[in-house]
Parts: sequence; structure tokens; C-alpha cells
Amino acid sequence: MPDDRPPSPLRLNIDGNALVANWRWLDQLAPTARTGAAVKADGYGLGAVEVVRSLTAAGCTDFYVATWQEAMALAPTLADHVAVSVLHGIRSDDIPNIKALGPQFRPVINTLQQLKLWRDTGLGWACDVMFDTGMNRLGLCGADIDAVNHSGITVDTLMSHLASADDDVATNDAQRMAFAELVAACPAAQRASLSNSAGICLGQPYHFDLTRPGLALYGGVPRVEAHGHIRQTVFPEAQVIQRRRVHAGQSVGYNGAWTAQSDTDVVIVNLGYADGYLRAFSNVGGAQFAGERLIVVGRVSMDLTALALPEGCTATEGDWIAVDFALDRASAQTGLSPYELLISLGSRYDRRWQ
Ligand SMILES: *Cc1c(COP(=O)(O)O)cnc(C)c1O
Repeated sequence: MPDDRPPSPLRLNIDGNALVANWRWLDQLAPTARTGAAVKADGYGLGAVEVVRSLTAAGCTDFYVATWQEAMALAPTLADHVAVSVLHGIRSDDIPNIKALGPQFRPVINTLQQLKLWRDTGLGWACDVMFDTGMNRLGLCGADIDAVNHSGITVDTLMSHLASADDDVATNDAQRMAFAELVAACPAAQRASLSNSAGICLGQPYHFDLTRPGLALYGGVPRVEAHGHIRQTVFPEAQVIQRRRVHAGQSVGYNGAWTAQSDTDVVIVNLGYADGYLRAFSNVGGAQFAGERLIVVGRVSMDLTALALPEGCTATEGDWIAVDFALDRASAQTGLSPYELLISLGSRYDRRWQ
């Protein structure tokens, strides 16, 4: 596409200062550890390249993606002194690209087969190793520690992942202790890392050498301890295509899911499922225009949403409305998790860092 294409009728304003402030808050909460950043799923929808650029400037040196495709997207703009770990590990299909990327990029070894595959590449640079300590998702089991110790590979970071750090449950402590035992049994590992955003809030015993926050960087409040400290980072705006008057008794949208009680002015905006504005926002979402509150009426469509205007509101064709997207509120309104809300945002927005 040439760069003179028309602007999108959707904007995602991204507050880069809020992103950095969130990273710094997490960093000072774990002063004995380094603070990394999970940037998988395109930086939780914000745009991974820009997130990495901003957080590198703030002092972050350890980034996490899920796949080698995500790793490759970061390569052209990555600073020389930072590292990217690829959480899903290594398949034989990945090896040519791993070779080309070089030692700034580390596979996170999750299985004995991945361990063998990595060793047999002979690439010889450091990898990370993930152990499962009770989540039963990715990772080696404790009994595999000898295989790691005798494999001849170089381990940068020994990792595990908490299943329920956002809850106050006994399994957090059990996972922490199981992980500490593994760390003690793998003296060759240079660093240890256990905590995601919520885990950081559990306190110093959970911090080890390096933390891996994701959600809280982007404005999600992982636990009550973070309340009031984490700032919203994404602010969607949608442009009005049409304003219309809906008379009392008339309905709006598919299946007439909202009926006007009295004559109501409504605006239709370019925003729908394809933009992460899912059906769960129907009849509950909101927006602001010139200090006034608009309410979603009827069912959200794939590309369109209708909002009712308060009496006297002047919003009309071509105006931009600010869509309410505070993650805790939007999550309570829709039943969608803050992760789902961020990651669904999609590619039709003009992402505007400010
Ligand atoms: C996604 C992920 C993180 C970040 O988790 P948040 O809950 O978003 O902070 C950390 N570690 C691993 C292994 C992950 O998959």
C-alpha cells in the first residue's frame, strides 16, 4: 500500500508514557530483580516493535515472544544489548531462522525433544529452560533436571510460570518452593525467573532474578496491590459515519436488540468485532464526546456500532468519539478478560503513539 492511502476511521491512541510508567512501577516493586517485558501477540495488541523500542529506552533488556515469527518481526529494530526469548521453544522448522537471527534470540526449551533438538543444532549460544511446577502447560518436569544439567547446553534463565498468581491460593507458594528447589539443583543457570504481572505483586520471594510482566504493562490490573498504580495505555477512537434520529418504538441494529423509549439521536461509527469491539459490548459499552457520555445501543456488528446521544449532543458525521476502554471497567461490563480485550484490537486502527 502506498503511504498516501486514506486515514483509517479508527484510531488507537497509545500512551507511551503510561506504558513506561507501568514498567517502572513494576520494576520498583521488585528492586532486587531485573524487569523484563512480555511482548507476545504483537505487544498485547499495541504493536510489539514500538513497545520494545519504548521499553528499551526505559532500560528493559529482556523481552518475551511466543513464536519465531514474532521474534523475526522484532529483529530489524532491536537494540544490540537486549535479548528476546521465544516462549514456545524450538521446532526443526525454526532452525534456519534461528541461525540467521543469532544469539540475541534464545529458545525457551520446554521438552526433552526440544532440548535434544537445540543441542544438536550445535549453535551453542545460551537458551532458556522452562520447568512446569504445577500448571501443566508448557515445561519440563522436575525429574528432567538431570537431563538439562548433563546436556552440555548453556542456560541463561531457568523459568517457571505461576498458574494462579492473581488468586490468593496455596499453590502459589507450592510452585515458588518447587521452583526454588529446581534453581538450587541447576547451578549452571545464570538467572531464575518465575513471575508474570500478578506474581510480581505477591512480593519479594517471588521475584528471583528476572520478572516477566505483560498485562500490567499495558494497563491491566493483575491484583488489588496494583490498583491505582497501573495506567491505561490504549484509548480507541472511532469516527462517526452517520447520525440519525430513532423515533420512540423503533429498534436499532440486528434483531432489534434495542428499542427507543423516546425519540433518540444515534450515531453510527466504524467499530465492530473486527476491531476487538465484540458482541459483549452490545447495549453496555460507552464513549465520550465533548464531555458527554454516549451509550452503545443494540447489537454491535462486525464493523459498525450504534451509540445513543444525550439530549443536545452535537456529535455528527466526521466527528471522533472516544470509546471507553478502561480495562477493568470494560472487563466487568463484558465478561471478557483484560487479555482478551487487548489482544482482540486488530489491525484496522491507526496506532498513534503519543
Ligand atoms: C504471557 C506470559 C507472561 C506474562 O504474563 P502476564 O500475566 O501478562 O503478566 C509471563 N511469562 C510467560 C511464560 C507467559 O506466557
